[in-house]
Amino acid sequence: MRFPREFKPKPTNWKVVLTSPIALAALLFPLIASPVAQAVDESPAPSPSPSASVSPTAEPSPSVSTIPPTTDVPRTSLYNTDSASSLQVVVNKRRPLNPIDYVPKGKVQIGYAWVAKPVADAYLQLRAEVSARKLGTLCINSGYRSFASQKIIHAAKVAQLGTTAGERLAARPGHSEHQTGLAIDVSTTQLGCRIGPFGSSRASKWISQNAWQYGFIVRYPSNAKTPITGYVWEPWHLRFVGVELATDMRSKKITTLEEFFGLPAAPKY
Ligand SMILES: [Zn+2]
Repeated sequence: MRFPREFKPKPTNWKVVLTSPIALAALLFPLIASPVAQAVDESPAPSPSPSASVSPTAEPSPSVSTIPPTTDVPRTSLYNTDSASSLQVVVNKRRPLNPIDYVPKGKVQIGYAWVAKPVADAYLQLRAEVSARKLGTLCINSGYRSFASQKIIHAAKVAQLGTTAGERLAARPGHSEHQTGLAIDVSTTQLGCRIGPFGSSRASKWISQNAWQYGFIVRYPSNAKTPITGYVWEPWHLRFVGVELATDMRSKKITTLEEFFGLPAAPKY
């Protein structure tokens, strides 16, 4: 999704929360219901699920058919595609985040952007390799975007261009991969970190072929996949899925998460 401006996550508006009867009831309910057990109402921090512990020994078998075989173990059983905190969560126009205002834990800052920790580590390695190959200096144009900031972006685009054209550019809040902290829009400092011209750069060409080694996929890989992903080619939008899944997709020559997991196409909401 092409939005150059990074929106800083806003603190919760407690005034609104506390004046909403429903929210107030939700806040008070645990205290009323079970004062001892629920006095500290901290749900355990969802730990990032490292793909390494989930997956079997994925032996690349290029000779096997590339279409998801129905006789095989469903791939959705090998990876967690539903939990918002999973590195392999599939978010698209038909699959909102749950909860819809999900906020990833443990974000770290890179430049002006915030990203989930595993993404930061992988990105820094990717950037070092791109630099070493003299393909340019990578920069993050946009990383984590909160539900609230996506709401503003979406509303602005829809107001400006109408629903159809606006939603081609801006995801509805709760439906953007950027809200997971696992997606980054990249460019190079040589391009002023603008995403528009990135697709024709050498860095982009190299990344499209090699980002999998760092656990990234070009999530919206071509216009031919728009009917499946719901988005036109976005060479700058990298989604971290972990090295294991990225390698698995690469070896099976499947470029979208929807196809890899046999999930419904998501051209529209
Ligand atoms: Zn993006």
